[in-house]
Amino acid sequence: MPHQEKVQAALRKATLEGLVGEGHPVAGFIDVQGVRDSVTALHDAFAHVPDVLHAFAVKACPLVPVLRLLTDAGMGCEVASPGETRLALAAGCAPERIVLDSPAKTRAEIQEALTLGIALNADNLAELDRIDTLRPRDSRSVIGLRVNPQVGAGTIAAMSTATPHSKFGVALDDPGARKRVLEAFLRRPWLTRLHAHVGSQGCPLPLIARGLAALHRLAEDIDEHVGRRQVTSLDLGGGLPVNFSDETTGPTFEDYVHALTDAEPALLDGRYQLVTEFGRALLAKNGFTAAVVEYAKTSGGRRIALTHAGAQVATRTVFMPDAWPVRITGHAPDGTLRTTPAVSQDIAGPLCFAGDVVAHERLLPELSEGDLVVMHDTGAYYFSAPWAYNSLPRPGVYGVSHQAGETVLVPVRTPQPVDELVEESGGRHVEALLTSSSTVGGPTSKGAGRSGGHCA
Ligand SMILES: *Cc1c(COP(=O)(O)O)cnc(C)c1O
Repeated sequence: MPHQEKVQAALRKATLEGLVGEGHPVAGFIDVQGVRDSVTALHDAFAHVPDVLHAFAVKACPLVPVLRLLTDAGMGCEVASPGETRLALAAGCAPERIVLDSPAKTRAEIQEALTLGIALNADNLAELDRIDTLRPRDSRSVIGLRVNPQVGAGTIAAMSTATPHSKFGVALDDPGARKRVLEAFLRRPWLTRLHAHVGSQGCPLPLIARGLAALHRLAEDIDEHVGRRQVTSLDLGGGLPVNFSDETTGPTFEDYVHALTDAEPALLDGRYQLVTEFGRALLAKNGFTAAVVEYAKTSGGRRIALTHAGAQVATRTVFMPDAWPVRITGHAPDGTLRTTPAVSQDIAGPLCFAGDVVAHERLLPELSEGDLVVMHDTGAYYFSAPWAYNSLPRPGVYGVSHQAGETVLVPVRTPQPVDELVEESGGRHVEALLTSSSTVGGPTSKGAGRSGGHCA
């Protein structure tokens, strides 16, 4: 079924069921079979490598049913916080198929991972010192070290992790760094993995491949230095860029494997177990966001559609429109694609700041009140990672399946009720600031807060 037909079928169903429209002016949709197909494409591309753990980068779509679907399809999970670890475990991902990568792990996080048998990649040498003291002798965790091969930036600075001054990993080309890494491995026989994540969106494949070839070279150097086979696995990170300009998928996972093989043929020869950590490339094109046009007006001669899709569901697009453009289509209130002649218009969001515009002077069929706009390719990092500005509720997310001419929608995340918004905005402490100065923490009531004041 072509993409646009799937979108219209999902919209028609969603408007009939009241999931989008009055009351629910924005919602996210995930194509269930599309996700499975993407996972299959990833596995197929690496089919010739004997031992690969494909771990999904949870931050790209931190929704438990999505993680469950991915786990069921054969994925592990890459996590970077206690919250993401919990989501992965809640989705039924086995601890040994979870990889923890945060650059700022606390002692408690390290301890939890080592106790559960979750793999972890230390970001720096100081973290290895912590692991030295925290690691139970019988820990089953695979432990690695993240390095920065410093091969340079892609087109989006904020997504480029292999620049000279990136915050991630041990900067390999810094004076003395390589020697310190070799020594760190020599001193720790349990340190058996090397990790690099060269970059995300905007980093071209040859750049990523060059970084991973450097990772392979380092692994060989370490083994030579310690005089035995110590590095047994390479974690290649994620970062396959996504095409946001039209419906075609590319570069593909197969392109990625070719680029790696071109850069270093031995990288995928099976001598090293591999881990991958793709996020965006697995989910982006399998999701879209639909939002109601609340009003349409003109301002200074420019047409503006005031919609419910703004920075709360498309944060990067709003703040960095050139780096993160999204494809938009206009639809009638029942979901049917609008095909009238295109006119230039701004697609604005509902937030109270002037920059809340997801597309400037975009050529689209003229939108009017009650229409729907669709932001395509937003299955990763968009509606699944909302921003809380203006206390807008997190939108509902629905899984979409098309079977024998029927479109079925299932809830993945229920729309956030307003009561929950009040609760997470401190609602239970409503009186706290009226009573606090007289009961806790004030200069005249030393210690009262600690011994059971109102700030429990
Ligand atoms: C974000 C991230 C990924 C996933 O990146 P994508 O561009 O979504 O594939 C993988 N590994 C690490 C360490 C990350 O921070």
